[in-house]
Amino acid sequence: MSASRNVVLLGATGSIGENALRILRAHPDKLRLVGASAHRNGDALLAIAKEFDLQRICLTDEDARHEAANKLPNGLKLLGGTEGLDELASTETADVVLVAVVGTAGLSPTLAALSSGKDVALANKEALVTGGKFVVETAEANGACILPTDSEHNAVFQCLGGGPAKQVEKIILTASGGPFLDWSSDRMAKVSPEEALQHPNWSMGPKITVDSATMANKGLEIIEARWLFDMSPEQIEVVIHPQSIVHSLVQFVDGSLIAQLSPPSMTFAIQHALLFPERAPGVDDTVSFTDPLSLDFQPPDVERFPCLRLAREALAEGGVSPATFNAANEVAVAAFLENRIGFPSIAHTIEHSLESMKNREPINLEDLLAADAEARRIASTHAETLTLS
Ligand code: NDP
Ligand code: MG
Repeated sequence: MSASRNVVLLGATGSIGENALRILRAHPDKLRLVGASAHRNGDALLAIAKEFDLQRICLTDEDARHEAANKLPNGLKLLGGTEGLDELASTETADVVLVAVVGTAGLSPTLAALSSGKDVALANKEALVTGGKFVVETAEANGACILPTDSEHNAVFQCLGGGPAKQVEKIILTASGGPFLDWSSDRMAKVSPEEALQHPNWSMGPKITVDSATMANKGLEIIEARWLFDMSPEQIEVVIHPQSIVHSLVQFVDGSLIAQLSPPSMTFAIQHALLFPERAPGVDDTVSFTDPLSLDFQPPDVERFPCLRLAREALAEGGVSPATFNAANEVAVAAFLENRIGFPSIAHTIEHSLESMKNREPINLEDLLAADAEARRIASTHAETLTLS
């Protein structure tokens, strides 16, 4: 890579955002931040704008934007709302947009960035799960690249090495299994948000941490992989790997398996995506073999983790079912984190929403977003019936 690459970072104040900022600080000769967004956290965003000498930022929450507007230094433009996020994602000088906002909010700016020909380092998986077909088509139509940044998908991207897809037998996504890997269903029925937020290996935002505990995260990732690598559902396998060091594997037609290994820190995947195809020294310690190191693998238990089964069913059904899975999960996780529903009710809410939605092939993006809204209504109404007393 000759010149430095201009980066827009959406979700700069989150867990992925913070890791991305560490990488930007470590490689000022290769990467330059030209825009950043947050939702509510105006003070943290203003501090980032100051540190990186930004000219454009966006706060998507209206109240937060009004509050920050009073504190703006000269020369800093503050955008707002979804339109502002789309505008930031299309920043003329940007080369790559790292989409690290949480939830379906990632879909619109992903499409905006790709539409204006920007490469997208995509950490946000909900965009692909909800609108995979539209995202992939938009990238192709505009000659833009989607750089997989979720750690498993980045691992697959690295293992594939750009070789012909027909030589790939299957991809194998690893999953830590989360904090309840060995818990009985009865014990899991009573877990609190605090317990679900204690991930054994990864430090992440609250939504994805709960997704890891239910394994809905791996379900979302199966659907994400289908779009990123154009694989059939049967070609995407999941294996439990509690150490989270092997981030995924690719099996080729001759039976060889290629894996990508690094410690459980997102900086490896984020840096790979931002610098691709170049490599540079990382910002975290590498895997050490000076002490004994065990790597274990076991099949997942879909009985105790029904979200995995539901994601596969949604993928097989196609149409708006993956979007329904995602929307119902977002609604249910929010309700669980607010102590309104119990842990197993997350899977119940997804299952009920998939059964209640009339599936159809979305004719356009508006139609898809209407289905997303309808699934949210169904899920919210159902979650209310499950409310903890
Ligand atoms: P966090 O909750 O830590 O951060 C979310 C970021 O998005 C924050 O900057 C937040 O701003 C902003 N945000 C929140 N809500 C909205 C909204 N409605 N519109 C626009 N911006 C919003 O999430 P993570 O960093 O953990 O995850 C981000 C994405 O990356 C998710 O899609 C997740 O699935 C994916 N991912 C995360 C991994 C991880 O290790 N964390 C690993 C792999 C994928 P504010 O701070 O102001 O609220
Ligand atoms: Mg992942």
